[in-house]
Amino acid sequence: ASVSEEKDLVIIGGGVAGYVAAIKAGQEGMKVTCIEKRGTLGGTCLNVGCIPSKSLLNNSHLYHQILHDTKNRGIEVGDVKLNLANFMKAKDTAVAGLTKGVEFLLKKNGVEYLKGTGSFINENDIKVALNDGGETTVRGKNILIATGSEATPFPGLEIDEKRVITSTGAIALEKIPESMLVIGGGIIGLEMASVWSRLGTKVTVIEFLDQIGGPGMDTEIAKATQKLLKKQGMDFKLSTKVIGGDTSGEKVKLDVDSAKGGKPETLEAEVVLTAIGRRPYTGNLGLENIGMELDERGRVIIDSEYRTKIPHIRCVGDVTFGPMLAHKAEEEAVAVVEYIKKGHGHVNYAAIPSVMYTYPEVAWVGQSEQDLKKNNIPYRVGTFPFSANSRAKTNLDTDGMVKMLADPETDRLLGVHIIGPNAGEMIAEGTLALEYGASSEDIARTCHAHPTLAEAFKEAAMATHAKAIHF
Ligand code: FAD
Ligand code: NAD
Repeated sequence: ASVSEEKDLVIIGGGVAGYVAAIKAGQEGMKVTCIEKRGTLGGTCLNVGCIPSKSLLNNSHLYHQILHDTKNRGIEVGDVKLNLANFMKAKDTAVAGLTKGVEFLLKKNGVEYLKGTGSFINENDIKVALNDGGETTVRGKNILIATGSEATPFPGLEIDEKRVITSTGAIALEKIPESMLVIGGGIIGLEMASVWSRLGTKVTVIEFLDQIGGPGMDTEIAKATQKLLKKQGMDFKLSTKVIGGDTSGEKVKLDVDSAKGGKPETLEAEVVLTAIGRRPYTGNLGLENIGMELDERGRVIIDSEYRTKIPHIRCVGDVTFGPMLAHKAEEEAVAVVEYIKKGHGHVNYAAIPSVMYTYPEVAWVGQSEQDLKKNNIPYRVGTFPFSANSRAKTNLDTDGMVKMLADPETDRLLGVHIIGPNAGEMIAEGTLALEYGASSEDIARTCHAHPTLAEAFKEAAMATHAKAIHF
């Protein structure tokens, strides 16, 4: 084993949190080492999360649209076939290009990249078991834990990533299953259900709660989403709890029970996807060697400056508090480096957008109507349907709406919820508005190009005063 010079910052984990912190610290002139065990940079997001799933979502949508949504556009297509191997190859190409790009960016910013598993020896020294064999030790003035998260296992169902899969198996199936049961109707469940349902799999989503979409989705929007996904062929069992499973037969069986006390039944399918959430990952990190505390959900405990109880060891991303989202990890990564270097940083947790990349997309920022009700916060609602938007009409793509929530006294924007084409892009405008403390009138008085989907955003703002022009 060798011991290197002391670095200003040693980062454990080269996911979005870790690699962004590494680049930012390099830009700030710090001496940085980033340790990643996967063999490629970018973490869950680039390798098995955001990026591969969006490739499959985009291309499965295109396939589904060519099959089912061309005739009324005056386009006649012949023999349409799916080549699953090439479909997966397109995904792999996107992933490889981006992960290599990140490696280049680390090099460009003078970051030392070690391929291996890092673990604490003490409060300053990290042992790295190198992927190629051997080990080395790095010493850091500051250390950043950015080890991310992993799929929460479903008790009693062993994951083999072939018949009982997590999202990692779901982005790499080698054949199109004839049937799939999805445990969990959150974002992963619905995105993956969309991919395989579009390719021909009969998908049933089992969700414990009485609404789909996971935490944060506005109930009215969740209901509208469910209706549209059902129309696409997905089945839903809400308020239903999976209580056990059996993989011994040809098909995987799940015992389910109504969460509200209905009668139990057994469902079966060729493949079961477990998508019941993700949990922080701190395996083999040697946290016990430094007496680091985790909370009851396994998250590293930090203060508002991302400091653990050992002040020069900080932590950001999925492994600590907050929503498990790549852009949240990225914001924190920049902020934590600013705290280390300059003593101040900033993340506005009230303005972090969420996007579900189904068709149509669902996107939101700020508070939902049910949040506001629960907290007794008064609000005014404005909605505008895409069926009244000229661009959506020309695109023959009119499902969905924009919903805006504003303070009845001050008119300050409280939340934006969109289901519709390009919702994921449009939500950036809502996020900017929230960040700047805009009123719905500010949005209504901002000129939006015609004909664009974004005009629905402006009209929803006008609708909070019952003054939409086109509806
Ligand atoms: P990770 O990306 O998990 O990175 C942590 C890295 O640390 C890993 O590469 C791991 O190998 C490494 N590591 C762990 N321990 C060690 C160690 N001891 N030594 C060395 N290396 C170590 N978010 C979005 O915002 N948009 C999306 O569209 C989206 N889609 C997703 C789709 C799927 C299927 C999944 C699973 C997740 C998705 N997410 C999405 C969530 C997103 O991937 C995470 O929020 C994000 O990756 C968190 O970044 P992170 O750096 O904190 O953790
Ligand atoms: P989630 O928490 O969003 O959803 C899990 C769902 O499973 C919940 O609705 C929950 O009620 C349900 N559930 C839990 N136990 C159950 C049981 N026994 N039976 C039936 N239902 C059960 O988690 P996820 O969808 O696994 O996603 C994990 C994380 O990854 C999330 O934080 C998500 O934000 C992130 N992610 C984001 C994106 C995106 O931004 N587009 C995409 C994928 C993943």
